[in-house]
Amino acid sequence: MKKLFSLIPLLILLLTAQSCMKGEHVDLIIHNAQIHSMDEKNTVYEAMAIRDGKVVELGPERQILNKYSYDESIDAGGKDVYPGLTDAHGHLLSYAKQKMSVELFGCKSMDELLFRTEKYQSKKKRKFIIGRGWDQSLWGETELPNNEKLNERFPDIPVCLYRVDGHALLANDAALKLAGFTADTKIDGGIVVTKDGKCTGLLVDNAIEPMEKYIPEFSTKELKATLLEIQNELYQYGIVGVHEAGIQNKELAILKEMALDGSLQLEVYGMLLDSPENRAFVEKNGIQKWGNLYVRSFKMYGDGALGSRGALLKKPYSDQHDHHGVLTTPRDKMKDLAQFCLAHNYQLNSHAIGDSTNYLLLELYKMAQAENKDHRWRIEHAQVVDPKDFALFAEVGVYPSVQPTHAVSDQRWAEDRLGKDRMVGAYAYKTLLNKTGMLAIGTDFPVEQTNPFLTIHAAVQRKDGNNVPGAGFLKSEALTLEETMRGMTIWAALASFRETETGSLEKGKNATFSIFVKPVVSGANFQENFAQTVFINGKSVYSVD
Ligand SMILES: [Zn+2]
Repeated sequence: MKKLFSLIPLLILLLTAQSCMKGEHVDLIIHNAQIHSMDEKNTVYEAMAIRDGKVVELGPERQILNKYSYDESIDAGGKDVYPGLTDAHGHLLSYAKQKMSVELFGCKSMDELLFRTEKYQSKKKRKFIIGRGWDQSLWGETELPNNEKLNERFPDIPVCLYRVDGHALLANDAALKLAGFTADTKIDGGIVVTKDGKCTGLLVDNAIEPMEKYIPEFSTKELKATLLEIQNELYQYGIVGVHEAGIQNKELAILKEMALDGSLQLEVYGMLLDSPENRAFVEKNGIQKWGNLYVRSFKMYGDGALGSRGALLKKPYSDQHDHHGVLTTPRDKMKDLAQFCLAHNYQLNSHAIGDSTNYLLLELYKMAQAENKDHRWRIEHAQVVDPKDFALFAEVGVYPSVQPTHAVSDQRWAEDRLGKDRMVGAYAYKTLLNKTGMLAIGTDFPVEQTNPFLTIHAAVQRKDGNNVPGAGFLKSEALTLEETMRGMTIWAALASFRETETGSLEKGKNATFSIFVKPVVSGANFQENFAQTVFINGKSVYSVD
């Protein structure tokens, strides 16, 4: 025993000497891990060395631990490490506003909607009530609701309640009066629903816009605080980036302030909405990067949503034979914005749900292809595509940006709207991937939840969080787990021109990654998972320890 004790100081001395002899010094080593690099071959490594926020080397455990001296090391306990996940289509600002509004998600009846609205108002005492998230299909109605009961409960205070997809709004009479709506109001690309010569309170697509001018804004302070809450919610799932799908100029100013003061650490890829202010910004600044906020794209709305029958279809709706849907941006305006984007080397990302809009945009995007082979213009959603148009995605080089949770959320009524035949080209993510070789994957939060494990389950198993439907919805369009993870990492980086910095863990790229509590797998049943630790540019931003 005595001999052994006397050996210990010597061993420590030798070990220290060895670490002094190690050539290079790094800040951090992650080891005993399953590091899914998402490189070209999807190599899995055991260890990774990090310095100055960048990956220095990946390799076997011993090689990395022996080669480098380091300030800090993390034993990952054999856990899965992925490049930080990106939600390639989300709405941070809408989500923040939703959190500050009446939460109507999952309401099972009109009475529940009224109850939640009254409860909110008794606490908040707002002068104008805003709510979000109702979906009449959850209370067994195919028809969209009217404002009768809302008028009874709120005869004087204006109330505006957005449908879950944001493409329809239920306003009470006090709000309609304030904004000057009458039964004769006509709006291009929108519908003011009337019955018996009176507005029912329902405004669809572009008809929402004139109402929004009267909806008061939340304070910047309240917005910023809520955005930071959301940032933390995203970290808990290992999400480090969001492609923000539609920003107004004032909102850009808020994000810029937060990026510059360092409170917004998320990688935000901003898509600007088309407005004179945003165009003036681009003319003055071109492509812009402040901290982790990167701005070099526009968002355009081609049509509405399928649930509220706003998606533009080539043939009429199966459950409304006189109706094709709504084109929300006229063709000349689409062309004008596309030309503006080309002139300023901006990317154009267009919302297209219906097969008619998808075709129209593919045709429009041909001009970008002619001028710039690497334009990476995106179609957001690409939800219903005429099978004969799939080839155009490859031909024009269009980047599809899809949300697998939409497929399993819409399964209840998609076939009612489309009919059996059109289901062939609906939510066809595998077909799109086969054509283009890449997909950007997101959730469209707050339309869906931010949880990427619901996305994995929807993409791979084609089931919702309750494992419905048992056999999977349009199962032949399922992606593999690896394809889904690529859609949330390297392909999302490519879709935002950031692949040289982020999206995979490779030498020289950002040390932005998440270690997950449980193995990242996809089985028959939904398996929720959380991040244990999240790093952005080599700095820990979240940890459950
Ligand atoms: Zn969206």
